[in-house]
Order: sequence, then structure tokens, then C-alpha cells
Amino acid sequence: MYELKAKPKSALAIFAHPDDADVACGGTLALWSSLGARVGLVVCTRGEKGTVDVGLKPDDLAEQRAEEVRSASRFLGVDELYLLELNDGEVTNTLDLRSRLVGLVRRFRPEVVLTPDPTAVFFGEHIYNHRDHRELGYAVLDSIFPAAMLPHYFPDDQPPHRVTTALLAGALEPTCVVDISGSLELKIQAVTCHRSQLQGEAEAMDHVLRARASELGRRLGLRYCEAFRRISPAGTQ
Ligand SMILES: [Zn+2]
Repeated sequence: MYELKAKPKSALAIFAHPDDADVACGGTLALWSSLGARVGLVVCTRGEKGTVDVGLKPDDLAEQRAEEVRSASRFLGVDELYLLELNDGEVTNTLDLRSRLVGLVRRFRPEVVLTPDPTAVFFGEHIYNHRDHRELGYAVLDSIFPAAMLPHYFPDDQPPHRVTTALLAGALEPTCVVDISGSLELKIQAVTCHRSQLQGEAEAMDHVLRARASELGRRLGLRYCEAFRRISPAGTQ
């Protein structure tokens, strides 16, 4: 693993649920935003099924989570927030979803795209990756290469755009880290905006995020890090 010291001019994070990006790459987004990057966040679903409370109405939860992501985005320095409002649990790598993602990529024209690593399935013996994350990761990869960069894909949309780098979060085999020592506190503040997901355990979440970032950093002698699998789609460096 190596330290990615890139300072991109623009970055677009594309994730399935309202709290995903903050946990996956909130420190990186906050860091790059503070360095002057234009930062966009795409949240694909309303997250309306993310509760064990049978009495909580899905529409009410969706509304609460939209508010939470708006608050969190301010901590991360997000310039453009796109809520696609798909149904939770129904993200599927279809032509229709890729069409929407290609449209967003060609409009925002990011240098870097951040999204879940779709090949990460099993995390130890007790957790495996959410279907929405897996489907979305593949949909995003299929959208940035080759679709967004070639004119005959979705020819009626915006002009083609070449994404230089994809950073895949939640990777089982990360290849690089970003030093988020200066932005970890913003990440923690963003994550703790998602009160509907914390069940009153903001302190425990703070501890988990700090410990995880510290563990990743230690491998390279850094304080706090986020890790990614880095891909430069064909024809780019
Ligand atoms: Zn999620």
C-alpha cells in the first residue's frame, strides 16, 4: 500500500445510502474540499428501509435521512448533492441506472470518482456486503468506463468525459491510503449527523471510526487514514 497524495480539482462520490459516503470516504472528501476541490455527492436511495423499528414509516425515515445527509454534507464541504431517490434495497446495475450515472458524470466532469468496491463481499464470518453496494459499485465502474468516455454511449447526453481515477471504498485488498489526519474530526461530525442510524451510540461510532482510521494509518506510519483500491480506467494514468 502507498499513500495517495493526489490533490484533485474535482471529485464525485457515488454511494447507495445517505450515510455511506461519510463512513467510506468522508475524511478524503473533507480534505480535498479544504484544498479547493469541487466535491459532489450522489446518494442513490432514500434509505427508507434502514431501521429495525416497524413503527417508523418509511417515508418519514426517508425524510429524516435526507435532512441528515444535507447536514453531513456541510461538514464534508460538498458543493453539489444529488439525491436520486431510488428505493432502498432495489439498486440494480441496469441500463437505466447507468444512463443516470453517465449523465451525472458527464455533467459534473470529476477527475476522481469514489464508490464502493463491488468485489468486496464477505467481511469476516459475520458480515457480508449489502446488495445495493455491490450493484452500485459495478454500475459506477461500468458507467465511467467505457460509457461516460465514449460518444456513442448515450449520445444524446452531455459530451463524453474521462474519469482519471476511481477509488473503491470498503476494499478487501486496498492499494492506497489517503492521510485524513487533518479531516478526521469533520468525518466524525458528518457520520454522527446520521442520528437515525446510530441508535444513540454516537460515542461508540466515534471510537470505531477513530480506531479504524488509526489502524490503517499505522501501516504507513501515519496517524489517521482511509484506504481504497485505486483504478485508473484504460487509457488514463
Ligand atoms: Zn449502505
